[in-house]
Amino acid sequence: MARYTGPVCRLCRREGLKLYLKGDRCYTEKCAIDRRPYPPGEHGVGRRKASEYALQLREKQKLRRTYGVLEKQFARYFDMAVRARGMITGEALLQILESRLDNVVYRLGFASSRPEARQMVMHGHIEVNGRKVDIPSYLVKAGDVVGVREKSRELVPFRKALETAGDRTIPEWLSLHEDGLTATIVSLPSREQIDVPVQEHMVVELYSR
Ligand code: SF4
Repeated sequence: MARYTGPVCRLCRREGLKLYLKGDRCYTEKCAIDRRPYPPGEHGVGRRKASEYALQLREKQKLRRTYGVLEKQFARYFDMAVRARGMITGEALLQILESRLDNVVYRLGFASSRPEARQMVMHGHIEVNGRKVDIPSYLVKAGDVVGVREKSRELVPFRKALETAGDRTIPEWLSLHEDGLTATIVSLPSREQIDVPVQEHMVVELYSR
């Protein structure tokens, strides 16, 4: 399972947007994009006006990096979105990305970032419908029940998640159970329920070139 292993704050600076890839640090004054709000590299400051293609590419990279998906898999998701019946392609793409198990774990507040959620899944701490699933790209469906496995519930991140369960804002397409560590996927999210600041139609335009 390939993934990007370089410096992640660089990705935020490149996109000019907080992608929240470092958990709690992203909310402190140590956040790199707050300290150096310009693209990384020697030519970071004072770039020329971006072309239409460059803008579309940036939107695609922003989306891909937000969810931690590599190019090939992202292209597969795009194909799935094109084939989604009765949906606008861009919205279907966002919905597919949101349905990833690592994203659901993050949205439920069990992890402070998507990379951390990905690790939790890969380490076998998460189950879907009572069965261990250690594939971060697993796509959940409406009606699925996602939770922390019994034997992992005493681990620090999950104890912390339990303590803060009442304070967390959980999207309405997820319903947290009383135990604080299990949730039902009520429905897959609509565009209005996805707070990722991306212009998905530009991604569709890029792939339609
Ligand atoms: Fe991005 Fe978080 Fe790094 Fe800030 S601290 S640049 S939000 S990954």
